[in-house]
Amino acid sequence: MAPFIAALAIFYVYHALGITVGYHRLLSHRSFKVPKLVEYFIVSGAYLSLEGAPIFWVTTHRLHHKYSDHKGDPHSPLDGFFHSFVKWMWNPIVKISDAESRQLAPDLYKDPLYRFLHCKHSNLDGLLCLACCIAYRAVIYFVFGPTILLANLIASFFAFLGPLLVNSVGHLRQFGYETYPCKDNSRNVWFVAMFSMGEGWHNNHHAFPFSARHGLTRTEFDPSWLAIKLLNTVGLAKDILLIGNGECARSRVSEAISRNDVSEVTIPEDSKLSTEATELTRK
Ligand SMILES: [Zn+2]
Ligand SMILES: [Zn+2]
Repeated sequence: MAPFIAALAIFYVYHALGITVGYHRLLSHRSFKVPKLVEYFIVSGAYLSLEGAPIFWVTTHRLHHKYSDHKGDPHSPLDGFFHSFVKWMWNPIVKISDAESRQLAPDLYKDPLYRFLHCKHSNLDGLLCLACCIAYRAVIYFVFGPTILLANLIASFFAFLGPLLVNSVGHLRQFGYETYPCKDNSRNVWFVAMFSMGEGWHNNHHAFPFSARHGLTRTEFDPSWLAIKLLNTVGLAKDILLIGNGECARSRVSEAISRNDVSEVTIPEDSKLSTEATELTRK
């Protein structure tokens, strides 16, 4: 039983943080920097939990921030809860063209591995991801046996569930609370945060998309932020973007974290600053 529990925990951390820290906070928002090989390792956790190619994920997500809960949002609950939960993946309302994709993620197109995984904007990117996910699990089965494979499948399922809940429940006004008025329906929902490594503090995230930290108060537990802090402590993450008096104070905040002193990082109270922060990210 102990190897099963240990494998479950290790695989969940690998796959869930691959999505939240890798695809989301690192690739989509560039909230911090890590060496390229470390980036590939973190991102592999997302790819191997069937999240699709990095360019597909990042372009979809950047479009979501651009049009949140308005026409053009790929997965808003305003188009139906089931659509925002999973249906958008196989029956999209918004289709991203090749040209639009390049405009949305020029940074990712510079990377040969991400370009390869994107399969020239064809439908093959999803099939390639599926094939890699199956091959990865075949290796786990033949090396570690069926018990560890079962642990991986359960961990991957819950890692996969996280962003689905964020996209749907995280934009429903019936749940949670809104700390910062935004032009969308994003909410801070504790149980979504629990299932998504802290990404359920989604209203905070929409107010300050660049911030590596989503849980902004003592009660808003954010394991993904703790993971980024840990990467910083061991010297792997730098240039961490946080909220500091309404500005992106890259170096100052990074230094403060190095000293393990995040008290310098203040959270702006007024919505004016949140608008400024959003605009800053879109540039
Ligand atoms: Zn959102
Ligand atoms: Zn985001």
